[in-house]
Amino acid sequence: MNNIINVTRSSMPPIEEYIEEIKPIWDSHWLTNMGIKHKQLQAELEVFFDCPHVTLYTNGHLALEAAIASFAFPTGSEVITTPFTFASTTHAITRNGLVPVFCDVNPATYTIDTKKIESLITPKTVAILPVHVYGNMCDVDAIQALADRHHLRVIYDAAHAFAVKYKGISSANFGDISMFSFHATKVFNTIEGGAVCFHDDSKVELLNDLKNFGIHGPEDVNYVGGNAKMNEFQAAMGICNLRHLAAEIEKRKHVYERYMALLSNIPGIILCKPQADVRPNYAYFPVVFDGCKYTRDEIFDRLKAHDIVARKYFYPLINATKAYQDYPTAGAEKTPIAAHIANRVLTLPMYSDLSLDDVERICSIILD
Ligand SMILES: *Cc1c(COP(=O)(O)O)cnc(C)c1O
Repeated sequence: MNNIINVTRSSMPPIEEYIEEIKPIWDSHWLTNMGIKHKQLQAELEVFFDCPHVTLYTNGHLALEAAIASFAFPTGSEVITTPFTFASTTHAITRNGLVPVFCDVNPATYTIDTKKIESLITPKTVAILPVHVYGNMCDVDAIQALADRHHLRVIYDAAHAFAVKYKGISSANFGDISMFSFHATKVFNTIEGGAVCFHDDSKVELLNDLKNFGIHGPEDVNYVGGNAKMNEFQAAMGICNLRHLAAEIEKRKHVYERYMALLSNIPGIILCKPQADVRPNYAYFPVVFDGCKYTRDEIFDRLKAHDIVARKYFYPLINATKAYQDYPTAGAEKTPIAAHIANRVLTLPMYSDLSLDDVERICSIILD
């Protein structure tokens, strides 16, 4: 009888609304290459983020690669980042010919530990690339102070932080540039999609052109760019989903509150505390099992046996993966707090349509 409960479920508009939105695409036969839907979503997001420049990409990963490429750092330069993230973050650094240097994380927010950044800075360091993990905001003030003192760039992976605000300021407006993912599994989706957000006027042309082979005009190829344009169907999905965003986040909030009510103050269960001055987006519900009767893996398996799919997110740590085993900066033992969390964390099912009855069932299996 029970259907499988996955860790996430994509938000979708009513189908009639999407059909209405894509009709002009049928009429115009203009499917991609910065058409009217692309331009409309870009303009709407500039307002939404309250950020002067937003450039849309076909996915978050290529947006992050372009964000990094836009600084033209010398090959072999070092970028201080977190190992407690999705593989995309680290790959975007490496695929730009740069070297990721892994900094441990803060035990309360799982974001980069700003007290440990300075000791990792070398003459080769050019940037800090932190991640707003689970929508928890990094310590943006401390990071900016460090960056200013050492003349470093700050590039945020804000893939989890759509609609999050710190002291009333949208998460898109910190550091030199921020990347967002609009992947199907994120709080806001364009099926696949992503964006870079920034203030520097001099980067507009470059970041617009990098997603289109570096082509600036009919006879001008000004940069070495790839192909990462958001197409019209993706943009139409985003335009629809943006209309429903506030309601979707409100529903997530109810799920979050029920989880908090049922799992708070239980020995062996550690939850993220709400952050001061932060308006959250309830993107994920991470639980760290520490000093619990059962291991994380046992709890994962028990949930699975009940057709409930939680996620070991993020596990393994990226500095413990085969892809980075030959890097001098690899080794999970160098980032012990991140390793501790990666070995104990589960993100529980979290999406707007998750019923509160299902939340209760999930919690009762865990509490059992
Ligand atoms: C989803 C995600 C990405 C990549 O975004 P895509 O849109 O899937 O390419 C990068 N970093 C983090 C932290 C993510 O969660």
